[in-house]
Amino acid sequence: MNWDEYARWGKEISDWGSDYHKTLRDRPVRAQVAPGDIAALLSLSPPEQGEDMAVIMEDFERVVMPGITHWQHPRFFAYFPSNASPPAILADFLTSTMAVNSLLWQTSPAATEMETRMMEWLRQAVGLSGDFAGVIQDSASSATLAAVLTMRERSLNWQGNTKGLSSMPPLRLYCSGEVHSSIDRAVWVAGLGDSNIVRLPIEGPLRGLRAEAMRAAIISDIAAGYKPAGIIASTGATGAGSCDSIRDIAKIAKEFDLYLHVDAAWAGSAMICPEFRELWDGIDAADSIVFNPHKWLGVQFDCSAHFLKNPEDLVRTLAIQPEYLKTHGQDGLINYSEWSIPLGRRFRALKLWFLLRNYGLEELRNRIRNHVEWSLVMAETLRNTENFEIVTEPILSLFTFRYAPAGATGLAALNQKLVDEINDDGRIYLTQTLIDGEKVIRFQVGQFDCTQEDITFAYNVICEIAGRQDVSYG
Ligand SMILES: *Cc1c(COP(=O)(O)O)cnc(C)c1O
Repeated sequence: MNWDEYARWGKEISDWGSDYHKTLRDRPVRAQVAPGDIAALLSLSPPEQGEDMAVIMEDFERVVMPGITHWQHPRFFAYFPSNASPPAILADFLTSTMAVNSLLWQTSPAATEMETRMMEWLRQAVGLSGDFAGVIQDSASSATLAAVLTMRERSLNWQGNTKGLSSMPPLRLYCSGEVHSSIDRAVWVAGLGDSNIVRLPIEGPLRGLRAEAMRAAIISDIAAGYKPAGIIASTGATGAGSCDSIRDIAKIAKEFDLYLHVDAAWAGSAMICPEFRELWDGIDAADSIVFNPHKWLGVQFDCSAHFLKNPEDLVRTLAIQPEYLKTHGQDGLINYSEWSIPLGRRFRALKLWFLLRNYGLEELRNRIRNHVEWSLVMAETLRNTENFEIVTEPILSLFTFRYAPAGATGLAALNQKLVDEINDDGRIYLTQTLIDGEKVIRFQVGQFDCTQEDITFAYNVICEIAGRQDVSYG
C-alpha cells in the first residue's frame, strides 16, 4: 500500500467508525457466534501475494464483525466500561501513524514530557496531593505487579532481585477477599506465593476489609516469623464495587512500615467529581494508586494512571541500564521504561491530552454523574418490582440484584439462566458474580453514549425475560 492509498483508506475507515458508533443500537451487544465460527472463516495459511485493501475490508465486515462484542454499545452493562471517545481515537490514529516508542526521553521527548504533564493533570483532576508523581502503564495489572515487586524489594532491603527469594523470609501481603484477580497474579509472578496472600474479612455496606482484623493478622504473622511486605486496598473492587477504608488501613501501614497500594482501576475515574472522593478518604497516605482512564474516562485501552509517592523505589526495583539504553550526559531526565515492566511503551499521553482538552473536565464529570444517578434509579426501580431483590446497594454506578420469585428453588441456576438468556437475546449485556457465595447479576452503567432511555430499555428487557422463566426451575 502506498501513502496515497493509505490516505484514502484512512478516510474510509473514519467514515466507517462514525457510522458504526451512530448505528450501534441496531447490533446485538454480545457477539452471537459459537466457538470456532470465526476461526472457520480465516484462511489456514498466510497469502503469498498481497491482496487488495477493498477485499480485506469486505472480509473485515464478513469475518470479523460478527465476532465482535460491542463494548461501545450504549446498552453494554456488563463488566466495567471501556470507553473510546472520538478525540482519543483520533489521537491513537496519530500515534499509530508515527509508531512512537517512548522508552527513553530521547526516543521522543514530546511523549515523555507530555506523559509527565498529563499525569499531573490527572492528579489535579482526581484531587490527589502534590506529593504524587505519575506514569502511564499499559494496564492496572502491570501497575499492581510493579507495586508488589516494589513491596518485595523494599521489605527485603533491595536484595530480592540480586539474591532471589530462596534464602529470604516468607513475605506476607494483606488485602480483602474482594480484590481483583490481578492481585493474585501479581503475587504469583513476584514469587511470593499464593498462600502468603492474607485475605481479610469484610464489613459494612461498602464491603471494606476489617482493619482491626488486618492489624491482628500482621501481629500474629510477625510472631510466627513472616515478614509483612505490604497491603493492597481497593476503591471500587470488581465484583460489587467494594471500598476499603483507606484512612484506617493507612494508619496500620504506617504503624508497621508497610507499603500501601490502592487498586481503584474502575472507580478512580469518578474521583474527578469531588462528591465521590469520600470513597477513598485518606488516599493521600497511599504509596501508590492505579486507576484506568481506559475504563470510565473515555480514552480507549490502553491507559492506566499509576501514581507514586516515591518513584525512586519503583525505579530502584525495575531499572536496568545496559549500555545500549544509556543516555550519556542526560542524567536527570525521566526514562519511563525504568518505571514499567515492559521496555517498549506506546505514546499514551496524547489521547489523554486530546480528550481532556476537547471535552474538558466538566463534560466528563457530567457523564459520570449521570451514570451514577441512572444506576441509582435502576436499583430503585428493580427494588420496587415484584420478585427482584437488590443484593448489594449501588457503589457509584454498580449494584447487584437477583431474581427471587417467592417459592422458587435453585436461585443460582435461575439467575445464571436469566443472564444467559438476556445475553443470547442480544439487546443488552449483563454479567453475573458471586456475593458471599450467592450467584447474583451485576448492573453497571458507564458507556459514554448511554442515555436514560437505554436504562429504561434495559429494565424492560430484564423484566420481559425474567417473566418468561419457569420459576420451579432448578
Ligand atoms: C479492571 C480492573 C483491573 C484490571 O485492569 P487491567 O487494566 O485490565 O489490568 C484491576 N482491578 C480492578 C478493580 C478492575 O476493575
